[in-house]
Amino acid sequence: MRVLTDERRCVGADLGAWMAAGGGAGLERALADRGGIIPAIEAAGLRGLGGAGFATHRKWAAVAAQPGPGKWVICNGNEDEPGTFKDRFLLSRTPHQVIEGALVAALAVGAADIVLYINPREAAAVAVAREAVAQWEAHPLLARLAGALGEAPRLRVVTGSGLYIGGEETAAVASVMGGFPFPRLKPPFPAESGVGDAPTLVNNVETLAHAGHILAQGPEWYRGLGLGGAPGTKLFSLSGDVLRPGLHELPMGTTLRSLVFGHGGGVLAGRAFKAVFTGGPSNTLLTAADLDVPLDFDSLRARGSRLGTGAMIVVGEGTSILRKTAEYVAFFAANSCGQCPPCKIGTHQVSRILERVEAGAGRPGDLRALENLAGLLPGSGRCGLVDGAATVLASSLRTFRGEYERALGPSGQEDGQEDGQGDG
Ligand code: NAD
Repeated sequence: MRVLTDERRCVGADLGAWMAAGGGAGLERALADRGGIIPAIEAAGLRGLGGAGFATHRKWAAVAAQPGPGKWVICNGNEDEPGTFKDRFLLSRTPHQVIEGALVAALAVGAADIVLYINPREAAAVAVAREAVAQWEAHPLLARLAGALGEAPRLRVVTGSGLYIGGEETAAVASVMGGFPFPRLKPPFPAESGVGDAPTLVNNVETLAHAGHILAQGPEWYRGLGLGGAPGTKLFSLSGDVLRPGLHELPMGTTLRSLVFGHGGGVLAGRAFKAVFTGGPSNTLLTAADLDVPLDFDSLRARGSRLGTGAMIVVGEGTSILRKTAEYVAFFAANSCGQCPPCKIGTHQVSRILERVEAGAGRPGDLRALENLAGLLPGSGRCGLVDGAATVLASSLRTFRGEYERALGPSGQEDGQEDGQGDG
């Protein structure tokens, strides 16, 4: 069953059409029973759909517990993970369900400043969100929210820097404050100290889009949408060597096989299935042995991988995992903010080695250098960027080592004296 992508809800900035399609009911319920909002989100089992899967009610409760006024809600729409294209759909096609969810969250935590933080490269999403916000400002429900909050909510669209790292939540906070999007160490979490040191709730667009529906239709309804105990639906961004790429809203817990071979129509040109980069491409690869794994946070974690953003980049036989890994590591290297030397230097070092191995110009010791770096880099940065690069590297080395060995040839596999530190 489609919830977020139901055609009746894809009304663009037209607030009247959104209300006619059942919009507003979630916020009405929230206004009628403010104390029941966080318990409903908890009972529904909603988790952070930006990638981490953190329990949404815990984050909301953490912000609600902080003293106010002055709190903020940031709806994080900086989406830029390779292979991820869900939030731009929600913001441009159905912005009111995102905004209604953000207003429900603002009421729950007691925040009057609400920011839709959007990647400026998504021009359509920015334009539609601006128009949608303007329409809310004239709506009586916003005046009722003001009554409940004790001050008029300030709802606005902020475009970030356009940098990938600006989506990291502490970088998003810095961006909203007008600064360069440098991530900082956590704790303190934004829930305690965010915009101007005020408690700030940062939630992904998809997470907030579900909140109004949960209030309107109840936690049991939401739980019942998922499979095998996993609640709700999930937007999967399906791409790569697959017949029907695109955005698929499916029950949380749908198997990888069902996504790729059912909804995705199978691998392109009848080729054999080789692997999937999950998440975006910053997690442990899934292979044919994982086809029957349910795609939900807990099942993938138990498998040693992660659901992440729900991006699934399919690789068929004939496509080089080594090439794809080199591309993704190059992306991370180009997008390091540069604050943490192991991230800034390490991702470039891995990228250089991968490029030359892939080009057939690998040197003795390259494989060992890559393995060293995959072990050394995790945990060495302020944020998760370097961990993502190291995880995808380690996973592809472990699972598709043959591709590296073939690219290196017999001489390249000789164990030379170089190591991760010595490589230039
Ligand atoms: P995280 O595990 O550090 O935190 C998850 C969330 O829980 C954060 O909002 C954090 O503030 C909150 N949190 C954790 N403990 C808390 C506590 N005790 N009190 C209050 N709040 C608490 O993860 P993260 O770095 O925020 O996100 C990582 C994920 O982001 C990855 O899984 C990755 O897939 C995803 N990602 C998404 C994109 C994209 O374009 N959508 C880009 C890059 C990464």
